Amino acid sequence: MNENNQIDLFGEIIETKPGGKTSSRKKNNNLITIKWSFSRRNVFETCLRKYYYQYYAAKLEGAGSRVNFDSVKFLKGLSNQHLVSGKIIHNLIRLYLTKAKSGTELSLDWMKQRAKEKIQQSIDYSNALLLGKEIKFDYPPFVLQEVYVETNVIKDIYQEVEVKVFEALKNFMESAQFEQFRTAGKLAGSFVEKKFRIQLNDEVVITGEADLAYLYQDGFIICDWKTGKVDDGQDSMQLLTYTWWAIDQAGANKEKIKIYKAYLGENSLKEFSLSEREIFRNKLAIRQSAEAMLEMAQFGEAGDELAFTPCRQPKICSLCAFQKICK
Ligand code: SF4
Repeated sequence: MNENNQIDLFGEIIETKPGGKTSSRKKNNNLITIKWSFSRRNVFETCLRKYYYQYYAAKLEGAGSRVNFDSVKFLKGLSNQHLVSGKIIHNLIRLYLTKAKSGTELSLDWMKQRAKEKIQQSIDYSNALLLGKEIKFDYPPFVLQEVYVETNVIKDIYQEVEVKVFEALKNFMESAQFEQFRTAGKLAGSFVEKKFRIQLNDEVVITGEADLAYLYQDGFIICDWKTGKVDDGQDSMQLLTYTWWAIDQAGANKEKIKIYKAYLGENSLKEFSLSEREIFRNKLAIRQSAEAMLEMAQFGEAGDELAFTPCRQPKICSLCAFQKICK
């Protein structure tokens, strides 16, 4: 291997400049860097304009003393019904498992009540904000996107959210399929919502979060809570990042990693593993995705909104928090 080359975390040779630094893009003499994640990649692939708002525009916006409903910062903080139900379910499961680790067993009724309160607080808080009032909470509720896109059916929407959240919590707490995760998640050595970072090279850090992971006998189990419908969606890249973290940082044996997707709403469990070929393909895809993001980063840092093409797909736009400012 040439002395100016290095091997990256994919085990592949990358070219470096004499002196040991990877050849790189610069921003005012500083290296442009990105944090690659599966969710960031999804936004990048879905709509470039949304990607700009989400990852660059808010940073470039000046600080305002009052809530500005058209500011990118405010819109970026909005949560729609799907995000709200997903976040409530994930937060309550995390709370259940961490409390159980310290000896407190939360009941299903308690969790349902907490979910109900959170939804109601979020509706009240969002309506009050719209009227220029701010209600103080120790833990701020969600600011609901639907309140700001003039829909009159908030109550109906969030009644459905409540039903969905209750069903998912019930399945988590009572389904025999998920018993192994409830039991293992309470053990001291399990990882609950474990955030991880993998340094790919000077410019790219891969970030992710494993919902639940633990050593089991001589194997390693990773479980991802799913709150949507059962599908075999294109998320093998996400599974690869979990696998990668497990081998590199959590001491897992490469041959003995099992990944499960637990579909809480539909009480269904699917087991996944990645073949050597899939691992190779996904590593390549992550590299390409990170490279494409880096190419756009200089435009993002410079605030060049027009370099980011809007997708203009009605189905996608109807769920987008930035629809009011997107031109
Ligand atoms: S409204 Fe549509 S085109 Fe505009 S940023 Fe959102 S998803 Fe993209």
